[in-house]
Amino acid sequence: MDRDWELLAICRHEDPDIWFSKRTCTLAKKICLNQCPVREECLEATLLREQGLARTDRAGIAAGLTGAQRAAIAKDRGEKPKLPVGSRGPGRPLARCGTRSAYQRHMRLGEPVDDACRAANAAASKDYATTGTTVGR
Ligand code: SF4
Ligand SMILES: [Zn+2]
Repeated sequence: MDRDWELLAICRHEDPDIWFSKRTCTLAKKICLNQCPVREECLEATLLREQGLARTDRAGIAAGLTGAQRAAIAKDRGEKPKLPVGSRGPGRPLARCGTRSAYQRHMRLGEPVDDACRAANAAASKDYATTGTTVGR
């Protein structure tokens, strides 16, 4: 996305804390809604950046909206909310046991390896030996 609009963002010239403090959130909303010429662009960029985040992980005011309001819009658009960051860690969801990814995770974290994961890894290695790839595993 073209980011030239950011140069026109009113908040660039203000104290960023205004957008992140409960005490000043009403002021922040007013600035966004009444003064900022790029609110639409800001909203789309923010929703994109926050894609998949839980309501509680959408911090501060953006485009005149609270995190809860942005989460509601995302939900209306059919986005699936994930668990809050911290309850699962950032990034992709964990691979389930019985896959090579889970096996590799166990090894990486020094976890005990269960039979399902050991079998999945053995099968993938055997595949690799015969086909030169594990794609499809
Ligand atoms: S609408 Fe977005 S870019 Fe404009 S002032 Fe508010 S937070 Fe900043
Ligand atoms: Zn496992």
